[in-house]
Amino acid sequence: MNSAQPIVSIRELTKSFGTHRVLNGIDFDIQPSQVVVVIGPSGSGKSTFLRCCNGLEQPERGTIDICGHCLVDHGTMLKDRALNALRTEVGMVFQSFNLFPHLSVLHNITVGPRMLRGASKADAEAAALALLRKVGLEHKAHAMPASLSGGQKQRVAIARALAMQPCVMLFDEPTSALDPELVGEVLQVMKLLASEGMTMLVVTHEMGFAKEVADVVVMDDGEIVEAGPPAQIFSTPTQPRTRSFLQAVLSRA
Ligand code: ADP
Ligand code: MG
Repeated sequence: MNSAQPIVSIRELTKSFGTHRVLNGIDFDIQPSQVVVVIGPSGSGKSTFLRCCNGLEQPERGTIDICGHCLVDHGTMLKDRALNALRTEVGMVFQSFNLFPHLSVLHNITVGPRMLRGASKADAEAAALALLRKVGLEHKAHAMPASLSGGQKQRVAIARALAMQPCVMLFDEPTSALDPELVGEVLQVMKLLASEGMTMLVVTHEMGFAKEVADVVVMDDGEIVEAGPPAQIFSTPTQPRTRSFLQAVLSRA
């Protein structure tokens, strides 16, 4: 039993696009320093779930408490400055990196703390260099994003998110756009964060990562159909939908 306050607490989260219900009453908690991997078929609602957690999507029903703030209260979402302030506390890393192409690596990382937190140039740069060291890219501080490999871009994107000192990091298929030989360097950084106690919610098909550091949640058709430690989910899934999904993923591995 973990008696600490959850970092993320979600109740009855429901989201539709038009008449299509994409999230169907999700209940879920993430404890401090917990790493949760979300798996499930394409279209099952994984990205929408993450996007709801940092206010990129407005759910129609449900409650989301995150980082000590009530982002959505029975379907009513924070607005304007309060929403923007909360977003800065929730780090998000996308499949497609989303670096600012016209800014250097260092500038990509310092722009958030300087613009949104009022950090001085010197402080922001010192912090950015420490983060680049952590992700193994200090030597690329003055490079432009276009000159980096996909794995390097994603490590910069992680450093940029960390620069805002988030209370939780959300990753949406962070290695899916990478050539296979570059996946490991990004997973290694994510494992380092996990070992340092970062709370993380990760959508990924990297079952090795899940087995090593995470608890697993299986989504299907907008619902959490199964949740538990990876040993249990992978070896004795209780749901037929989990079994067929795992068979499909593992046969590709
Ligand atoms: P996953 O990440 O598991 O593949 P998504 O959350 O991206 O699933 O999508 C779940 C469902 O919601 C899909 O059927 C998708 O087509 C639909 N969907 C996602 N975003 C939108 C949107 N902005 N407008 C309409 N439908 C959407
Ligand atoms: Mg997705």
